Amino acid sequence: MSIAGDGLPPLREVIGDHGLSARKSLGQNFLLDLNLTAKIARQAGDLTDCDVLEIGPGPGGLTRGLLAEGARHVVAIEKDERCLAALADVADHYPGRLTVLSGDALEIDPMEYLTAPVRVVANLPYNVGTELLVRWLTPDQWPPYWISLTLMFQKEVAQRITAECGSKAYGRLSILAQWRCQVRMAMQIPPEAFTPPPKVTSAVVHLERREKPLYDADAKVLERVVAKAFGQRRKMLRASLKGLVPDIENVLLSVGIKPTDRAENLTVEQFCALARAVATR
Ligand code: SAM
Repeated sequence: MSIAGDGLPPLREVIGDHGLSARKSLGQNFLLDLNLTAKIARQAGDLTDCDVLEIGPGPGGLTRGLLAEGARHVVAIEKDERCLAALADVADHYPGRLTVLSGDALEIDPMEYLTAPVRVVANLPYNVGTELLVRWLTPDQWPPYWISLTLMFQKEVAQRITAECGSKAYGRLSILAQWRCQVRMAMQIPPEAFTPPPKVTSAVVHLERREKPLYDADAKVLERVVAKAFGQRRKMLRASLKGLVPDIENVLLSVGIKPTDRAENLTVEQFCALARAVATR
């Protein structure tokens, strides 16, 4: 048996020994290079005084990167039970520093296992990545329990999160993310870095929460307005927002937005003003 830099077997061996053939249905593309996973972990900032929530640890590549970089405690939620034995070996190697929760991240509440400050770091399964991001960004109470999100997505999704007003990628995710966080494209990762390689390039985005959102708005109302506006992004707002509230043209005019504008040209500030006006109807 060979040993990697962190004293555990290399990930290729872990995958072979535990029969972890990748399953497409679970969005499984594994990172095997521990130098790369440590680099991703460093994008999250200093982890030594933080708990880290990781979604989808798989065979443990990023988990090992996080622990090697000094994370105080990692709480990892994994749906694939085949990975649990491999993760138990990592937990034994770092006593008291890794808690693995078996199940679906959309259903498990990890709060009781986490102690503030908490950073979320994950190579997200593509099928639940956006849903999780929107949930993290739209709790009723702000600031949330986490101080940052460092997340790997398909590059196209990462571009949507960081896109500027007026650009092609600007949309629902840009507004929800930038309203409450400072966002930064941290690094890009080519398909060859994964086993098996996905079809597209991936990218890591880092979101640092703002203590106070940029502008007042109710998160659920803003989410509804933005989703409807971008549901038909090529249409004028008076058409795309039709039915949201009665007399949408006058609501738009009351906050200084032209009903003939399109969603991609509205700033975060304008969307928040619109959400406030909609909330009063
Ligand atoms: N973190 C590992 C890495 O970087 O090599 C694996 C990342 S892989 C892209 C996504 C992981 O998420 C897989 O291990 C998969 O089993 C897991 N997963 C998929 N859906 C999940 C869900 N709903 N809840 C928790 N884990 C999930």
